[in-house]
Amino acid sequence: MTGAPASPPRWIVRFSAGDRSQRDLLGGKGANLAEMTRLGLPVPPGFIITTEACRAFLATGAVPDALWEELDAALVDLQTGAGRRLGDPADPLLVSVRSGAPFSMPGMMDTVLNLGLNDATVEGLARASGDRRFAFDAYRRLVQLYGKVVFGVDGSLFEDALARRVEPSGAEEAVLPAEVLAELTADFAAIIEREAGEPFPQDPDEQLRRAVEAVFGSWNGRRARDYRRMEGIADDLGTAVNVQQMVFGNLGEASGTGVAFTRNPATGEARPYGDWLPRAQGEDVVAGIRLTRNLDELATDFPDCAAQLSDVFATLEAHYADMCDIEFTIEQGRLYILQTRVGKRTAHAAFRMAVDMVGEGLINRREAVLRVTPAQLERLLHPSFSPDASYDVLTTGLNASPGAAVGAVVFTADDAEARVADGQDVILVRAETAPDDLHGMIAAQGVLTSRGGLVSHAAVVARGMGKPAVCGAGAVSVDPDDRVFTVGEVTVSEGDVISIDGTTGEVALGAVPLVTPEPTGAFATLLGWADGFRRLGVRANADLPEDAVRARELGAEGIGLCRTEHMFLGDRLPLVQRMILAETDAAEQAALDALGEAQRSDFVALLQAMEGLPITVRLLDPPLNEFLPDVTELLVADAKGELDADGHRLLAAAQHWSEVNPMLGTRGCRLGVIKPGLYRMQTRALVEAAVEVERAGGAPHVEIMVPLTVTARELDLVAGWIRETAEEVVRDAGVTITYRIGTMIETPRAALRADQFARTAEFFSFGTNDLTQMTFGFSRDDVEARIMATYLERGLLEVDPFRTLDPTGVGRLVRLAVDEGRAVRPDLHLGICGEHGGDPPSIALCHDAGIDYVSCSPLRVPVARLAAAHAALGAPTHAAGA
Ligand code: PEP
Ligand code: MG
Repeated sequence: MTGAPASPPRWIVRFSAGDRSQRDLLGGKGANLAEMTRLGLPVPPGFIITTEACRAFLATGAVPDALWEELDAALVDLQTGAGRRLGDPADPLLVSVRSGAPFSMPGMMDTVLNLGLNDATVEGLARASGDRRFAFDAYRRLVQLYGKVVFGVDGSLFEDALARRVEPSGAEEAVLPAEVLAELTADFAAIIEREAGEPFPQDPDEQLRRAVEAVFGSWNGRRARDYRRMEGIADDLGTAVNVQQMVFGNLGEASGTGVAFTRNPATGEARPYGDWLPRAQGEDVVAGIRLTRNLDELATDFPDCAAQLSDVFATLEAHYADMCDIEFTIEQGRLYILQTRVGKRTAHAAFRMAVDMVGEGLINRREAVLRVTPAQLERLLHPSFSPDASYDVLTTGLNASPGAAVGAVVFTADDAEARVADGQDVILVRAETAPDDLHGMIAAQGVLTSRGGLVSHAAVVARGMGKPAVCGAGAVSVDPDDRVFTVGEVTVSEGDVISIDGTTGEVALGAVPLVTPEPTGAFATLLGWADGFRRLGVRANADLPEDAVRARELGAEGIGLCRTEHMFLGDRLPLVQRMILAETDAAEQAALDALGEAQRSDFVALLQAMEGLPITVRLLDPPLNEFLPDVTELLVADAKGELDADGHRLLAAAQHWSEVNPMLGTRGCRLGVIKPGLYRMQTRALVEAAVEVERAGGAPHVEIMVPLTVTARELDLVAGWIRETAEEVVRDAGVTITYRIGTMIETPRAALRADQFARTAEFFSFGTNDLTQMTFGFSRDDVEARIMATYLERGLLEVDPFRTLDPTGVGRLVRLAVDEGRAVRPDLHLGICGEHGGDPPSIALCHDAGIDYVSCSPLRVPVARLAAAHAALGAPTHAAGA
């Protein structure tokens, strides 16, 4: 027992005494009922038992005595106002009991209606209403709901009993006569007694108290807990309980009930939208058993109520400055509003409403920008599985690149190209992808891999292309030789059609119907407003001119990362191999010259596409293994006697360069250091391209970036080559080119030594894919598929750090590098180009850390623009996508 508190807590708040700011105390539903009561809207009277009372119950397992005293007092008020008494056999007051948590929780027990009915009061209700059938129907609904909710009786027992009564009477459930309903009520009471071992309580006070306890108890029910976990809602909030005088939409011809939205929640159109049913109770509309009628028709049957309702819509919209949804009931010609809240809407409607409401003067631009979430925006940019489609999920992987796609399964890039050439859509299925799969990825509608994480090759490249990808689907076992993949017992062969949704990670057999959004004018308007609020710049990661063009159309203000190794794929791969494997200086130089020529024209195209905007070109950063021939394949060919002298040389060289841990091997500028001609060649190609564009009247703005540096001396060495080469080209050309030299910060050491790097580097770009990999020691290609799900489930990590920047570890390194770098060079320009650059919570961190711009894949540019605005406006962060 705890002592009496100094000032006794108030456990109950009358509707007339609360308001919507008290959501935490009164729950969402209660706070809005109180607000509507304050606004003078026709809300049936009632009161709210607060979440504080629930918390007290949860802490002690018992309802505080003071609550029952307050409940009695609140009931006296309710009865006085209604002019009726609970339990009065002549004309009983009836109440509903509904849970109402601070956040909407569909997983919870919800409602008990018609409390106060018993064997005696049901007769009173029958007389007072003049409708015996109605009274007994209300009673049987109470016993049924009470049995399920308070006693936890299996609902199907009641439904079976109902069916047994419905069949012999030959009547529909809706018109069962009063005598049958009375028998049914007795059946239900018997079921309760049998299952729960005690009778249905006849005392209305007991009914009410036990219903309140049941609502409190449901907070810790399995479904409610699961739902909270899924939605990240705290377990200690508790739920409020709303006790409200009943009104009946099924009482005679002049009654009805409906649900309505102040504007269309699907399209956003500024016109009320809703469904209603004459002579029905709320659940009949939602259950969809009877065909509902359009809200427009309400005016025909109930002109006064329709006019009043339209005033209610106007009042609510003006007051909440948002679209509201409403539950209403008409009881014998009188309109009542039973519930309201700010309504859910589609992504499309969210944009339209936000923009329209600014036009109507309801909200300002700042509020409009905050009204749409990055997740809604993402939905507008990509196709998805149709919400109406029914399909079985075969398996789920990482939602690596958003959008949905349908196609025939292929296992090799060449097959992908061949089938697409025949006019088919395909999904490329691989254990993982490598650079030489690129043509297959280009051809395919989507990519599915069984291994690899969110920053694996498949994920990064697919996102860059704006192609759907599901990666690391560990249940998928790929057998490219037999041209099948299996998931448990299911075998999927080449040519079978599958569907993937890279927004959710789902994989389904067959062709799931897709919906393709069409961004409207509201999309551009709202993003334009978002641009006015953000401080962060937004650039794109793009390697090809067509990606750059798309990024620019979507609002990119430059290229933050051009991965030059992606320009070395396809038919250029042999040239790179020749350069790496060259045994003589002459052979190396010849390969470099050929590469240089190809690069120069690529850079011209890229500079032209981004004319006037900065482009950050990263010097070659080869995960060496991705560019070399496969040693095993060569060994097999050798064993079969298929290798000629060149083949043997290739095998020997490939063996020589093969590494145990290529991710930590000859990567980044390390290759540049041992092949000094390489970066000179790339610099020359780039600066010559800039000269060409400048001469043609353009304004190239070039940033040359050194990858994966770990020591400042490394950077100094490479920066020296760049400067020498660039000056040479500029001198020869007689043209002035502006260029900057900088480095990626993607190793913990580089972050820790940022002050040293900033002496040479004019800019940093945080490569948070590698920085995350190396800070955690998590291989970016291995950890997510095998380990991440378990880590997240067990709470060892809160989020996948490859998706959302780890604020306390990797984020701390970023902040340190920002601060120490800027201390040395105050105008140090700072960006981020890891995949986190398109992730809203990570963007908020970048904003906070003082970074200048984020760079992300082209299709995420709009998301980044919005998220950057949200960060500047101090909005809570929302994840995009799932
Ligand atoms: C990074 O490491 O974050 C990065 C952008 O480089 P890449 O993904 O090409 O290794
Ligand atoms: Mg990297």
